[in-house]
Amino acid sequence: MKTFRIAIDGPSGAGKSTVAKAVAKKLGFIQVDTGAMYRSVGLYIYRMGIEPTDADKVIPELKNINIDLGFSDEGQRIYLNGEDVSEKIRQNEISAYASKVSAIPAVREFLLGMQRKVASEHNVVMDGRDIGTVILPDAELKIFQTASVRERAKRRYDELIAKGQIVDMEQIKKEIEERDYNDSHRATAPLRPADDAVIIDNSNITIEENVGMIAALYELRK
Ligand code: C5P
Repeated sequence: MKTFRIAIDGPSGAGKSTVAKAVAKKLGFIQVDTGAMYRSVGLYIYRMGIEPTDADKVIPELKNINIDLGFSDEGQRIYLNGEDVSEKIRQNEISAYASKVSAIPAVREFLLGMQRKVASEHNVVMDGRDIGTVILPDAELKIFQTASVRERAKRRYDELIAKGQIVDMEQIKKEIEERDYNDSHRATAPLRPADDAVIIDNSNITIEENVGMIAALYELRK
């Protein structure tokens, strides 16, 4: 089957998953949040008490990690060795673990096959950092979605406050800047827009407008 693949890349907090989920629902596609896969590897490594930068310890663990995806209108569910970890992977410590393990080429290789397979079997909206550049370089539509650091930090702050967590705005900004730096300076698959990506800065537009833009681009290209 020839599938239609929409790749959405961009930095942390640019609303990729929210937008990807809404676009998928609108078009009847499945959403694949690849960040959740890195987070699941991060969670496993965290639970094992392994330093996420220690490639010699992380790599042998990959054979013990089994990741499965479940799809519904409500978005993706993710299972780590059979356990639904969809919520657990959202904890703040796990973000840093995900970002660190993602810099290990063997970890990227481990997830690449799975990501390509799902995109060859379904129409997908796949979001991540390297979807348009590495995973699906011939995707039918590529979006690079971003927003200012200030706006992204504010969104993250509001989200954590709503969950009742006590957080410091400056600390969040610092964490976002750190993750941006790690993601765009790593040797393997650094975060950058594909040459043929459409860049959407959503600092000053609504989620609905952002979704509408992508749906309109799809109509033009399908
Ligand atoms: O998107 P999310 O914040 O959930 O991703 C968690 C981490 O996983 C990111 O900071 C990034 O380092 C890594 N990641 C990646 N490549 C992807 C998706 C996520 O390196 N395609």
